[in-house]
Amino acid sequence: MAQVFEPRQLTRRGLVLTPMTPLGTTGLDDLRSQISGDVLGDDLGRVIYSSAAGIYQVLPLGVVRPRHSEDIAQTLRWCEPEGVPVTVRGGGTSPTGACLGTGLIIDTSTYMGAETEFDVGEDTVTVPPGANYAKINQVLAQFNRYLPPDPSAGDYCTIGGLIGTNSSGIPSAK
Ligand SMILES: Cc1cc2nc3c(=O)[nH]c(=O)nc-3n(C[C@H](O)[C@H](O)[C@H](O)COP(=O)(O)OP(=O)(O)OC[C@H]3O[C@@H](n4cnc5c(N)ncnc54)[C@H](O)[C@@H]3O)c2cc1C
Repeated sequence: MAQVFEPRQLTRRGLVLTPMTPLGTTGLDDLRSQISGDVLGDDLGRVIYSSAAGIYQVLPLGVVRPRHSEDIAQTLRWCEPEGVPVTVRGGGTSPTGACLGTGLIIDTSTYMGAETEFDVGEDTVTVPPGANYAKINQVLAQFNRYLPPDPSAGDYCTIGGLIGTNSSGIPSAK
């Protein structure tokens, strides 16, 4: 049987679901002391991350902007016993609300987007999850290489979101 959610609030953007975890935003102070990235629990930060490129709106408990993979690992270790759900967010261009959630949003695009490394000998490229798709191709173009999925939102999306949604585009075939 389909699960029925009760609308807490209706806005111009549609249905707003509020956090279902009993943990309040003050509980985030504990996590803030454990990672080097940002932990947002204020209303403005939460509202900014409550929507993306679609019509949906889901207010998260908070937002983590990790600086490196250990921040993500520590966030997951913190969330598990607290029962807080986690949603990763890249460029936020998914129109389906896929990067929205009621728990913690982990935004990889703020600090984990640089450091594209291309290994000419191995013909491999190594990037962090928040790397911007178009910028990866700017680096690869110097080596006459091209990463082909090529969605039309490529200027804004990240490699994490691109893989997460199995993105592709017509120019892939070039
Ligand atoms: C104008 C426009 C044009 C578009 N054109 C195309 C197109 O041509 N082809 C196409 O396929 N799509 C297209 N899309 C959809 C969207 O752009 C793609 O799905 C894009 O690749 C999503 O990347 P993102 O970084 O914005 O991901 P987000 O929207 O931030 O996230 C998408 C999903 O991936 C997950 N995710 C993100 N990062 C990670 C990570 N590091 N680890 C695990 N999961 C992660 C999120 O939790 C979410 O479920 C378009 C969207 C818009 C708004």
